[in-house]
Amino acid sequence: MEYTVTLIAGDGIGPEVTTAAVRCVDAEAESHGFSVIWDKQPAGEGAVRAFRTPLPGRTLASVKRNRVALKGPVTTPVSTGYRSVNVEIRQKLDLFANVRPVRSLAGVRSCYKGVDIVVIRENTEDLYAGIEFGKGSRALRMLSGFVKKETGKAIRPGSAVALKPISQYASERVARFAFDFAVSGKRRMVTAVHKANIMKFTDGLFLRSARKVATRYPRIGFDDMIVDNMCMHLVTNPGIYDILLCPNLYGDIISDLCSGIVGGLGLAPSAEIGERCAVFEPVHGSAPKHAGKDDVNPSACILSAAMMLRHLGEKNAARNLESAVTDVIKKGRHVTYDINSKSHVGTTEMTDAIIERIR
Ligand code: NAD
Repeated sequence: MEYTVTLIAGDGIGPEVTTAAVRCVDAEAESHGFSVIWDKQPAGEGAVRAFRTPLPGRTLASVKRNRVALKGPVTTPVSTGYRSVNVEIRQKLDLFANVRPVRSLAGVRSCYKGVDIVVIRENTEDLYAGIEFGKGSRALRMLSGFVKKETGKAIRPGSAVALKPISQYASERVARFAFDFAVSGKRRMVTAVHKANIMKFTDGLFLRSARKVATRYPRIGFDDMIVDNMCMHLVTNPGIYDILLCPNLYGDIISDLCSGIVGGLGLAPSAEIGERCAVFEPVHGSAPKHAGKDDVNPSACILSAAMMLRHLGEKNAARNLESAVTDVIKKGRHVTYDINSKSHVGTTEMTDAIIERIR
């Protein structure tokens, strides 16, 4: 079997961690009798230099053609500059479900044991929809007039405004995905995370949609929790949670919190799933301070690649790669600074140790 996969190395530490993941996938392919052709495509700062856009059309076309991509992190300028490439990829490819598993691993120091949570985040709407009105803009003046007329409420002069669209369609779609994921992964419980006590229309619709979908899955438990309370419970007793179903913004924040609970961003993989395409990438960003130093943990990207192998149907290779990573972490000799602060082991050395266990 031969697979063609779009490879987006990204910015900062992206090229280092994607190189590590590609080496591991190639090693798995060799030992399990399949091959992967890597269709390399630009995105991010490098793409701006070469193509004058952070997301060239050829990159999106490649993912649409191959239907699967492995992606490194991409830098997004804060406050000014171009909009997030990640958000654009998710919206343009309609990658509606972001799956972020977090698990306690032997060999990683943490205050918590027995954590096994999957955060499933709606990926296309909410405050991340990118509908913003700049301070002093004509559009915002018109919007303020409309809001005053319809609600009697005033938007303070000098404000900027972002809209938070949440639809029944997208909420039910991601809820169905979460329950199907629970059934196929033999999980027991879905908890919807929201702030429907305050945002009764938007988060209220998300919660009502999740409740409606839950009735079709009587074997899977369902409950819900307000997002601030959820954060408190996650840092006091994370071991009791199973699948957390979140709107976009809360899902982004909660999944980083969960990564911290099990030992940090260097261990957190993710999958972004749509009807046609899927993109696999670490949860972490481009960590520019570490770029080119060969010192970051490649595990998050390698574990994302393992999720990709499972998606492609290469289940044995996926399981084997996950075991190789967890084994190296458990042994603790070839691990990066984030797992052992005294370690001088770098990205390449840790990857070599993982590949040694594959062969
Ligand atoms: P970050 O995840 O890049 O880094 C935060 C810190 O986490 C780092 O300083 C480092 O200490 C640690 N860290 C991250 N990855 C690690 C790894 N593999 N091994 C060990 N330690 C690791 O977050 P940031 O500094 O907030 O963001 C930097 C840039 O990345 C921003 O431009 C942001 O927009 C972008 N970003 C991109 C993505 C993506 O492409 N999916 C996701 C998040 C952030």
